[in-house]
Amino acid sequence: MKLLEKCRNFTEAAIAREQGWYPYFKVVESQQGPEATVDGRQMVMLGSNNYLGLTDHPKVKEATINAVKVFGTGCTGSRYLNGTLSLHEEAELRLAKFMQRDSALLFSTGYQTNLGTISALVGKGEFVITDRQDHASIVDGCRLSFGKTLKFRHNDAPDLERILQHLGPDTGKLVVVDGVFSMEGSLARLPEIVQLCKTHQAVLMVDDAHSLGVLGDNGRGTAEHFALEHSVDIVMGTFSKSFASMGGFIATDLQTIDYIKHHSRPLIFSASMAPATVATVLAALDIMEQEPERRERLWHNAEYWRHGLQELGFNTGHSETPIVPVILGEDMLTFQFWKALFDQGIFTNPAVSPAVAPGSALLRTSVIATHTQAHLDRALDTFWQVGQALQVIS
Ligand code: PMP
Repeated sequence: MKLLEKCRNFTEAAIAREQGWYPYFKVVESQQGPEATVDGRQMVMLGSNNYLGLTDHPKVKEATINAVKVFGTGCTGSRYLNGTLSLHEEAELRLAKFMQRDSALLFSTGYQTNLGTISALVGKGEFVITDRQDHASIVDGCRLSFGKTLKFRHNDAPDLERILQHLGPDTGKLVVVDGVFSMEGSLARLPEIVQLCKTHQAVLMVDDAHSLGVLGDNGRGTAEHFALEHSVDIVMGTFSKSFASMGGFIATDLQTIDYIKHHSRPLIFSASMAPATVATVLAALDIMEQEPERRERLWHNAEYWRHGLQELGFNTGHSETPIVPVILGEDMLTFQFWKALFDQGIFTNPAVSPAVAPGSALLRTSVIATHTQAHLDRALDTFWQVGQALQVIS
């Protein structure tokens, strides 16, 4: 059958598996903390987004289990119809308060949050303007919208200005940026972007997937970090990282939320977050507020890890966060490096185009609050050995 020809001709993954360096869909057989069991072996986990280490926090687990006892396992319907639990509304109120916004709205995944927000807001004759390195869920949200998408060069404020200048003040426009870029661990140039959005009357939305619980004195993300919270119109977050759960949300003004609730297809035509996942979020939020020392520990680890890699001579690009890439350039070198680390018990994530720009292949590493210095020292030692063997460092 014609349609499936491309599947029959797709051999790259099978060849990589045969050659023994296929790095994807690895099976984890344990909890994912600072260590994890993968392929039957204990590994130092440098590939998770469990930034605050809350996935195995006793109170978070207990709250999650209790929610199943009270509310059952699933909602069996959309928020719009039978799928709104008191737990969802409680989480929205708590998140709005935490974020110091009027209102918040949950979605079933972070991916759907971007899809459902951008597509609902940007209509025919309107524009969405994105950074070229924005996350795929933002790209797909733009595809689903009836508006036109324009892209500016990565973190290049003059290029954004060039685009905004061409669109008149009366044109509806939404600028969407990642607060922290998920592969390179760098920050959006928010001060310049905020200024441009103000001048050109564009609405600004920041994806804080990797910044909530991480950046800012209270963990409220990139805008808090830059003291620009009043200048960002819509903050988007996921629960699959610091919140140790699944799902996502936006926080903004009441009327925008009400509009999105009634116009967002990914919200309306998909079942709501399961009770257990919402309860995890509420418990994680409690811990974030009660245990700020976790964020301090995370940053201590991030600095130690990044410094360690740089001192060994690795290129960590523009990383300023717990996400620290080791930029290797070539795809095959990256896979070789990944495999050698994996064989020695260090779990990292290889990223090649289109996840990163062509020729900028990298190993994405990320540290969490519960890594000990011994974990990081062991990983640094392995990076040093592999880096020398593959002549990446001298
Ligand atoms: N935005 C960014 C920047 C992300 O990195 C991710 C996930 N990696 C998402 C959105 C989607 O979130 P989720 O995995 O929770 O659906």
